[in-house]
Amino acid sequence: MQYATLCETYNAIESTPKRLEKTAHISALLKRTSEQDLARVVVLLQGKVFSAVDKQTLGISSRLTLKALARVTGASTQELEKEWSRTGDLGLVAQTLVSTKSQQTLFTQHLSVEHVHTQLVRLAHTEGKNSVDTKLKILSELLSNASAQEAKYLVRTVLEELRIGIATQTLRDAITYAYLAEHAGIENGDIVDRDAYNTVTAIIQSAYDKTNDFTKVAQKAIKGLKALKDVHLTVGQPLKVMLGVRGTLTDAFENFSLPLLVQYKYDGFRVQIHKHEDKITIYTRRLENVTEQFPDIVERARSCIRARTAIIDAEAIGIDPDTKRYKPFQEISQRIRRKYGIDEMAEKLPVDVRCFDVMLAEDTEYLEDPLKKRHEQLQAIINEHELFGIAHTLITENETQANAFYDDAIAAGEEGIFAKHLQSTYQPGVRVGNWMKIKHTMEPVDVVIISAEWGEGKRSGWLTSFTIAVQDESGVLQEIGKVATGLKEREEEGFSFKEITELLAPLIEFEDGRYVRVKPEIVVEVAYDEIQQSPTYSSGYALRFPRILRNRSEDKTVDDITTTDYLTLLYEAQ
Ligand code: AMP
Repeated sequence: MQYATLCETYNAIESTPKRLEKTAHISALLKRTSEQDLARVVVLLQGKVFSAVDKQTLGISSRLTLKALARVTGASTQELEKEWSRTGDLGLVAQTLVSTKSQQTLFTQHLSVEHVHTQLVRLAHTEGKNSVDTKLKILSELLSNASAQEAKYLVRTVLEELRIGIATQTLRDAITYAYLAEHAGIENGDIVDRDAYNTVTAIIQSAYDKTNDFTKVAQKAIKGLKALKDVHLTVGQPLKVMLGVRGTLTDAFENFSLPLLVQYKYDGFRVQIHKHEDKITIYTRRLENVTEQFPDIVERARSCIRARTAIIDAEAIGIDPDTKRYKPFQEISQRIRRKYGIDEMAEKLPVDVRCFDVMLAEDTEYLEDPLKKRHEQLQAIINEHELFGIAHTLITENETQANAFYDDAIAAGEEGIFAKHLQSTYQPGVRVGNWMKIKHTMEPVDVVIISAEWGEGKRSGWLTSFTIAVQDESGVLQEIGKVATGLKEREEEGFSFKEITELLAPLIEFEDGRYVRVKPEIVVEVAYDEIQQSPTYSSGYALRFPRILRNRSEDKTVDDITTTDYLTLLYEAQ
């Protein structure tokens, strides 16, 4: 397929806010895609080069891209920077320049999807001596053969900022329209049998939830419904985690059948533990492989999980070895990214692992089974150890007892409890009402920092004020305000101005006086007194008295930040 065809689709998708139209554009593209190109087209549609299970990134800076653009178009770096600061989108700069600099003279060869993808993979793999030169060469070659439109999307892809607004659901529906229309009750592009349609999309969704990989889903779907139904969990490959919604114990007792399960909500980080005989793999909630960082968990999982194969959901919590008290997430978060001195770290900052679910054991999948059965299964395969075991749980019909359990959790320093419906299945990747988080404070939101300002006086040299954003249904960032409090002046007191500045500085894309725009990567947890509706910010909401609580970038990406839909729920619940 020509890269231009893909770019036409990007453009069409970007030009409409309507989901149905986006779906139609994607499905039309998929229909034209050969089986050979399918995997490439699907990852590129998502603005990626590697599939979601493959955590490789491109790691190309805006600077390098700017240099390549200057080289190819003959524009000066100053000229480019001026345009960039005006539009805030290097893709648009590329488009304008390529169209005005009469690129046609350079335009020698049509880009194919295959060539673009291969070169992007090469970019990611280029390392070591002379790598900057090699990368510059690859980028320049691609850009010099690109039309204006291609240049725009190429640059955005290279910077991993495509963001044309394709929600998971849209891709799922497009796959249905493209490959499974006849099973899904679709005639001439219209849904004539809603039940059939829902059944098919549910099968696709389930295949996606199990693999977390649209490439795989599309490759199965093109072969038909039978192949798609045959997608199973694979030990060693992460599946999306299930999440809960906020609620109260009264809500849970009113809505769940009794008895229900209540469980401590620990303030640690999620670990998805995969066991295949002696081989243990550990993923974070972001589905990043952190096996190497946690040799202590690996060792305990190996000896405490009494099943040949298993996939287990658990929380790893920092623990003080002397007092046996749990520590806040912030104190152990550094272990997640640690690359050296790992054994030493494991000793200095030990973690306790509390398992709360099982998705597979002895090659049997348990996703469709009720929690009651999964909990029993978990008990059957876990050997309790001082620092590895099952989450503190109570199954009860009695609300007073559940309330006392909640008080115990708070007294023990936990964030609160989870109330879980015993008949609920495991729904990967979904925030479900069957898991209710019961916390004692206004629930903080996870936001991404999109711009900041340098401080003045004794705070000069630090970034001190931050514009923050949530995401809408399509994953597009929407502003929710500014935050300037919560950070500490001194490092030993916690998340500090210095630390946040060090995190953001490498991500600066543009500076103008005190203002800096940063690549949206740093996720922080923000507390507030109230959510208000606001015409000022694009999210439609503002936070009253926002304050930064902590850095969540170790275990959350921009894809995990709070959504506007969820804000609406929080707004209505307060
Ligand atoms: P939140 O980030 O507030 O939506 O809370 C969800 C997170 O709570 C999960 O991703 C887990 O890491 C964590 N968690 C702690 N204890 C439990 C538990 N017993 N069951 C499920 N999740 C838990």
